[in-house]
Amino acid sequence: MEFDTITAISTPMGEGAIAIVRLSGSSAIAIANKIFRSPNGKDLFDQASHTIHYGHLVDPKTNEVVEEVMLSLMKGPKTFTREDVIEINCHGGLVSVNRVLQLVLINGARLAEPGEFTKRAFLNGRIDLSQAEAVMDLIRAKTDKAMNVALGQMDGRLSRLIATLRQALLETLAQVEVNIDYPEYDDVEEMTLPLMIEKCTWVSKEIDKLLLTSSQGKILREGLSTAIIGRPNVGKSSLLNSLIQENKAIVTDIAGTTRDIIEEYVNVRGVPLKLVDTAGIRETEDIVERIGVEKSRQVLAEADLILLVLNSAEQLTMEDRRLLETIKGMDYIVIINKTDLPTKIDINEVRNLSGHKRIVTTSLLKEVGVDELEEAIASLFFEGTIEASDLTYVSNARHISLLTLAKSTITDALEAAQSDVPVDMIQIDVTRTWEILGEITGDTVEESLIDQLFSQFCLGK
Ligand code: GDP
Ligand code: ZN
Repeated sequence: MEFDTITAISTPMGEGAIAIVRLSGSSAIAIANKIFRSPNGKDLFDQASHTIHYGHLVDPKTNEVVEEVMLSLMKGPKTFTREDVIEINCHGGLVSVNRVLQLVLINGARLAEPGEFTKRAFLNGRIDLSQAEAVMDLIRAKTDKAMNVALGQMDGRLSRLIATLRQALLETLAQVEVNIDYPEYDDVEEMTLPLMIEKCTWVSKEIDKLLLTSSQGKILREGLSTAIIGRPNVGKSSLLNSLIQENKAIVTDIAGTTRDIIEEYVNVRGVPLKLVDTAGIRETEDIVERIGVEKSRQVLAEADLILLVLNSAEQLTMEDRRLLETIKGMDYIVIINKTDLPTKIDINEVRNLSGHKRIVTTSLLKEVGVDELEEAIASLFFEGTIEASDLTYVSNARHISLLTLAKSTITDALEAAQSDVPVDMIQIDVTRTWEILGEITGDTVEESLIDQLFSQFCLGK
């Protein structure tokens, strides 16, 4: 395939030290050659692929020097888009980057649409759709962990798994076809109902596994929903503040909360937390009373992790006990705060009431114990559901809905087979499953879907 040459600023806008203007397309090198002058008069066409060149950008009409640059030359197909790619590294700063972009545009490139570089990689067969989406996730990834998931997907792990499933389904279909068209063909194994059941069961189980990891994937991208609860004045706000101060708050593009509760995103040792601050509610009243039993139940039910704060300088109250009772069976950490004051709380009682849950003592006032708390949060997360690093995480809403759909069609096939429906009648559901799985990797998608997906990308990626 051949496309025109597109360009965009591919570094974040702002006052960074350097910025990159990227070109991709069949005339990328020609355009660069027109405006690039190296000290010894190099012709870029004569240069080897994947080389970097120092020089100046010059306006060919006026011979005016526009910028001092480093220029990377990468010839297709060994590039991200499989096309010829030029990257112009120039000084950061809006003015100079824009001047370079203008110069490139005047000399024959077209401004890229959002996601168009990645779209080309897809259209040129460099990556499949799930990998393209992984690039999008990568751009949006908020923490290192989420980044690894995105990278793993880009690697094609999910794609390979889906391909294996589709291959199995295709073989099943082919076998049925052969049985119907060539009943005299004895050396092809007959697709009997038991065999059909066996294949469908396997595919169904594999889809289940993927769906199971999808809830994990969602957590990684959006953050572990973490509720800070406790009586008034025990130190909830102090806890929230020290977690935010010590951990860079994550900038999020997720729509704000509709509840009268504050949500903050922080990254605690690679674990993204969405801190749900029930302390944002008026301090003087009992939180459980204030937001109503229903609403507090809702906050707690949605929480993946609960941080219960107790006051070490007071004895346990009925309210403390009630909170401990309410969160029974959930994942929580008990924080016994204000240890700088004389201890009145009975830690053994807390231990008994909380079963084997982790207890951390802190003095938020003196900044003591926050490290231990962070350690506890991280290990709770990493010990728990995430263990093998080679799991395929499904972190994309579109993937999840397609997998759910595939699960239901393969279940239809399975149930039909189990009710002795003739094999050739079951074909329809098997074919449908094969098609749906193909949509994940982009093997059976319509053009409009592709456009829609790529338009979500950031410009320049
Ligand atoms: P919240 O009502 O649960 O949000 O509690 P706050 O975080 O607003 O804290 C209530 C009061 O306790 C404030 O005056 C804090 O300065 C104080 N406080 C918080 N943590 C500690 C601590 O570790 N030791 C002491 N002595 N005071 C604390
Ligand atoms: Zn508070």
